[in-house]
Amino acid sequence: MRSVTIVIPVYNEARSIQENLKEILKYARDTADVSVRILVVNDGSSDNTAELVYELSVSEKDIDILSLNRNFGKEAAIKAGLDYASGDAVIVMDSDLQHPPRLLPQMIELWKQGADVVECSKTGCENKTFIQAVLRNFFFIVFELPTGLAIRDQSDFKLLDRKVVAEYCRLPEHTRFFRGLIRWMGYSSAQIYFDVPERSGGNTSWSLFRLARYAVSAIVSFTSFPLHIISGCGLLTFLLSMVFGGKALFDKLSGNAVDGFATVILLILFIGSALMFSIGLIGIYIAQIYDEVKSRPSYIVSRKGTSADTVSHENACTERKEDKMP
Ligand code: UDP
Ligand code: MG
Repeated sequence: MRSVTIVIPVYNEARSIQENLKEILKYARDTADVSVRILVVNDGSSDNTAELVYELSVSEKDIDILSLNRNFGKEAAIKAGLDYASGDAVIVMDSDLQHPPRLLPQMIELWKQGADVVECSKTGCENKTFIQAVLRNFFFIVFELPTGLAIRDQSDFKLLDRKVVAEYCRLPEHTRFFRGLIRWMGYSSAQIYFDVPERSGGNTSWSLFRLARYAVSAIVSFTSFPLHIISGCGLLTFLLSMVFGGKALFDKLSGNAVDGFATVILLILFIGSALMFSIGLIGIYIAQIYDEVKSRPSYIVSRKGTSADTVSHENACTERKEDKMP
């Protein structure tokens, strides 16, 4: 019988994790000819999320848990889940029921019919403030234009065939943008559309600052286009300076030079801020290269399976090939 692992990254979800996992299990078991297990990746929760999942896994034998040493972020938690998942296909989904579990049987059915990737795309927009909506649109324009990858409706709710998981884990980069990379890999995909429901319990852990940082790292890890904009701006200001410099020289030589103090101040301010912005942008790319060159693992595992298992990341890496969660 073929098997599917559902990877669920969780961070401080104590308020509703047990009910949500039960709800997910209910639909996961509603599939013929496929055995389904859940792998909860506890991304360094500071509340008692991990204890609640361990407690539930005593009665629900289809639940495994992988705990990370600290909060490494959702992308790292997804990567950890994919590294450790043993199923013939892996489904990644959120724990807060905003990725409706009722779609699980349909996703698995599409996979059985031959889809390598089943993508669940959002219809409509989640409840967002005006500022969030503007920033969101700005992000998608900046991301989609240079990369040519349409990810506006995409979510992290996806089913990946084993060969896609293997390819994803083989990618060498550390800074990852899951939904962008899956699109970039270009496997044949089936689409399911869903309305994003309200969060069931607790609050989102994504502040505006955290989202902005995530957006910048997604863009920087996918395209160097912003750097080319700097070169374009440099060329433009050079051409403009030729025109204005020529005119200033002509005025000076013909004795028509005017005071122009305010113009000079404005030009200095404009060029100065453009230079600072450009250096900052280059700095962001250098920081990304620095992070990649250090090659630190994107997560460290503190315990897996049962509370008795405690493994370091190094052991885990060497064990991974034959690793089957209990
Ligand atoms: N999450 C995580 N690590 C983090 C932040 C979030 O594993 O650092 C998990 C979280 O527990 C949830 C999923 O990622 O299962 C989606 O998070 P959330 O609902 O806060 O995001 P939103 O739905 O607002 O995009
Ligand atoms: Mg959510």
